Amino acid sequence: MDQDDSIFLAGHRGLVGSAILRKLQSDGFTRVLTRPRTELDLTNSRAVDQFFAQEKPAIVVLAAAKVGGIKANNELPVEFLLANLQIQNNLIRAAYEQGARKLLFLGSSCIYPKFAPQPIPESALLGGPLEPTNEAYAVAKIAGIKLCQAYAHEYGANFISVMPTNLYGPNDNFDLATSHVLAALLRKAHDAKEAGARALVVWGSGTPRREFLHVDDLAAACVFLLQNYDSPEIINVGTGKDVSIRELAELISEIVGFEGELSWDASQPDGTPRKLLDISKIESLGWRPQISLREGIVRTYDWFRAGK
Ligand code: GDP
Repeated sequence: MDQDDSIFLAGHRGLVGSAILRKLQSDGFTRVLTRPRTELDLTNSRAVDQFFAQEKPAIVVLAAAKVGGIKANNELPVEFLLANLQIQNNLIRAAYEQGARKLLFLGSSCIYPKFAPQPIPESALLGGPLEPTNEAYAVAKIAGIKLCQAYAHEYGANFISVMPTNLYGPNDNFDLATSHVLAALLRKAHDAKEAGARALVVWGSGTPRREFLHVDDLAAACVFLLQNYDSPEIINVGTGKDVSIRELAELISEIVGFEGELSWDASQPDGTPRKLLDISKIESLGWRPQISLREGIVRTYDWFRAGK
């Protein structure tokens, strides 16, 4: 990838896309193309075809997706399936038809079976049933991986698929109904502290374990893989370390300065018991995350407060 290649970054306003945009810009890539949703509806195949015919980007980064936490995923399977299938089908096909040299598709660690071996190697894909609370999203992402691989096998396209673990950072979604756990707990701890509340309500039992990667680390990994990875086989990106939801809630309380108690809402689902990625493949290529969980939460909390 050259610094003057035209790069279409789909989803540049989201958590992942905005981080990739910052990274591409700071690394000196001068021709990054972006389009706000009001100008280009990625679920509209005609509009996508027209855009690609006109711009013919050399590189495509597919960071656009309909995403959400455990509750939204569980309650809106139709929307998660349809929007994600439409966006990725339109972009992957148009990228091939208009001659893109490389495409990076972003998947998710929820594509792996609910009871996959831990840490989860890339080979676990399709080895068992999925976690039901995010099955619709996962099925769409698996279809995206398979479409990229199909273009690679059938037509020789250089379309790669990257599987990030649970992400957090600036531009995360802090809406309690649709957010993921880290952003939700930051907001709840902040609000509880401000209100002088005695308890912070955490969903589920606190025993599920999750791995959290700062989105700036993911962005660095994506740019690294655009430059150093040309295989259709999926590749994991994570930290290689996980924490329980209880440990996460305690760490966030400490960073925010909330001194009350944690209370557990057992009416909300736990989801998959553990999700930790095996990152030995990307490590063997020479990439490692740089931002510790504590440092990343401190930075994200600073960002959250600055926007208040
Ligand atoms: P998941 O990784 O797909 O399960 O998605 P989430 O990040 O939404 O949830 C991870 C875990 O955190 C689940 O066990 C949730 O029950 C738990 N959790 C605890 N409190 C919250 C909260 O306030 N919001 C969310 N989204 N999850 C929470």
